[in-house]
Amino acid sequence: MPPAAALHSRPAEPRGAHKKPAMRILLHICCGPCAIVPIRALRADGHDVDAAFLNPNIHPYQEYERRLEAAREVVDAFDVPLPFVDEYGLTAFLRAVVRSEDERCSICYALRLDRTAEVVAAGGYDAFTTTMFVSTQQDHDAIRSAGEAAASRHGVEFLIRDWRDRVMDGVRESKAMGHYRQQYCGCIYSEWDRYRPKGRDAA
Ligand code: SF4
Repeated sequence: MPPAAALHSRPAEPRGAHKKPAMRILLHICCGPCAIVPIRALRADGHDVDAAFLNPNIHPYQEYERRLEAAREVVDAFDVPLPFVDEYGLTAFLRAVVRSEDERCSICYALRLDRTAEVVAAGGYDAFTTTMFVSTQQDHDAIRSAGEAAASRHGVEFLIRDWRDRVMDGVRESKAMGHYRQQYCGCIYSEWDRYRPKGRDAA
């Protein structure tokens, strides 16, 4: 997970505050449980939602498969199409972050959202956003910057949202549905942060 200093608290946004004319939106899904609240919120605003699972940051591969399976379960339950699932992408991800480990989360957001924006442009969607906006463990400022940069590069629209006030709704619902819930953010560095013995250096 990103360091605690990366966390930000913002006032909760009123529901429906982003109501716009209905759009075709591609939702970047980081995992199944985090997708529940964004799918409900986007649909409540009248949008059509497709999903994309573009996450080369999930290690090791068996963990990637478990999260993908949980994502498929959630989108199936909500009848959301999932037309975009990338190849794993491990090597490219590691090459991007090695020697820049302290900035790895910004690099990770940029990689995933840039790929999503590329797919959005090719698929003719009106806009895209990400389920990472429901997480209280992610750096929302960095996600916003990465999404806006990716949108500008590919000539598409990035929807900035803040669903953190509903994070526990998604947790409760995913538990009730019995979906797999991961224990660390995704990359091998975050797995080490999560499981390293007390007193062991983070390096
Ligand atoms: S997977 Fe790793 S690099 Fe990506 S956001 Fe999580 S901690 Fe950061």
